[in-house]
Amino acid sequence: MSQTILPNLSDLLASIDQHDVPVEIIQQVIARCITPLSDTETLPLKQTLGRVLAQDVISPINVPSYDNSAMDGYAFIATDLSDTSAKLNVVGKAYAGHPYLNEVRSGECVRIMTGAAIPRGCDTVIAQELVSDATDSHISIATSKVNAGDNRRLAGEDLRSGSVALRKGKRLSPADIGLLASLGIADIAVIRRPRVAFFSTGDELRSIGQALDEGCVYDSNRYTLHSMLVRAQCEPIDMGVVKDDPASLETALREACAQADVIITTGGVSAGDADYTRQMMARLGEVLFCKIAMRPGRPMAFGKIHCDGRSALLFGLPGNPVAVMATFYFLARDAIYQLMGTKPHTQTLLKVVSTHAIRKKPGRTEYQRGILSTNTSGKQQVTLTGAQGSGILSSMSEANCMVVLDHDQNDVAAGELVSVLAFDGFI
Ligand code: AMP
Ligand code: MG
Repeated sequence: MSQTILPNLSDLLASIDQHDVPVEIIQQVIARCITPLSDTETLPLKQTLGRVLAQDVISPINVPSYDNSAMDGYAFIATDLSDTSAKLNVVGKAYAGHPYLNEVRSGECVRIMTGAAIPRGCDTVIAQELVSDATDSHISIATSKVNAGDNRRLAGEDLRSGSVALRKGKRLSPADIGLLASLGIADIAVIRRPRVAFFSTGDELRSIGQALDEGCVYDSNRYTLHSMLVRAQCEPIDMGVVKDDPASLETALREACAQADVIITTGGVSAGDADYTRQMMARLGEVLFCKIAMRPGRPMAFGKIHCDGRSALLFGLPGNPVAVMATFYFLARDAIYQLMGTKPHTQTLLKVVSTHAIRKKPGRTEYQRGILSTNTSGKQQVTLTGAQGSGILSSMSEANCMVVLDHDQNDVAAGELVSVLAFDGFI
């Protein structure tokens, strides 16, 4: 097992006040309990989107590998320009992939297309629309229209041979993958996907396809979690629904620990339920049951389960569907990223005007669901999506952002600025 057991986890857990732990504190505790995975796999470039680079990539070539033209125009020698102008003979053509092979001399120029190699001797390109009296055999250039060195893309100006093109730990974006392709790299070593086993707990839960008996609800959390895990480039292991009894839960946790790096459960961690699961989990590992000062997502269990010589991180998320998403995005995903050897997601908060008053008690961080839009005068604004109950999944579905209300923040008046985290790129 690649995770080591942090010797002071219990101390760490015991040292924090288990009631109303600020979000930043629990994030730090979680971060201290993680040892990044070291297993790697080498994959074709097209299969690496979102995966984490296992080593620095050193550029084997200059990109571009030769000086080339940034414009359709004429390549010439800048010293040919007099105080006012130059008349030059067109001696040949250079197309992308079809260079002009002779040396260009004073008084000469070459018709050149974008991406074509700058012919030997030339140092400047003028755009075709800036020359005058152009024929197949000659052109005139007004000196005022061009500066020496214009429109030349220099060899290595994008990436220099021997330099670090991408660093270990980079989560690969479309731009990164294109960049690797520009280096001629076909396969790349990435950290293996973390295996994340997850299950829902609750006697009231029914799986899709089962009859919805009275007093029961369909299990949505496993579907939300599966999707979030796939987006985070994990290998999801769906373990179904587990009944609300310690024996079933223990069996499920043992099975999960046998195959996963991380276990995520939902439900059964609020005050009443937690009592019996707490004792059972205490036998299996070191698990903190805490009340996080966040809404949605107050109760949560976090720790490590050890079983048959293996161990796995455990996130016992609350059962309410919006709380599951909030605790996943603000607590579990960064831990998974850290496990993959990459940085937490950068949360870029915008400050925008709230169209309505928002009630907020100091002493907890709130993540309210909002709709970010542009008003008639072109300013960005945010409006909450109706009811904000932690069971109302449609509030997440309608929203395009979270309104993040800080721990110490009070009520917000209509027209006040609030912090907003856009979903695009975040969820
Ligand atoms: P719990 O945290 O177990 O007390 O559950 C809190 C609320 O979330 C209850 O209303 C549950 O019915 C609901 N809930 C728990 N798990 C799920 C699930 N997997 N899918 C949908 N709702 C759930
Ligand atoms: Mg429950």
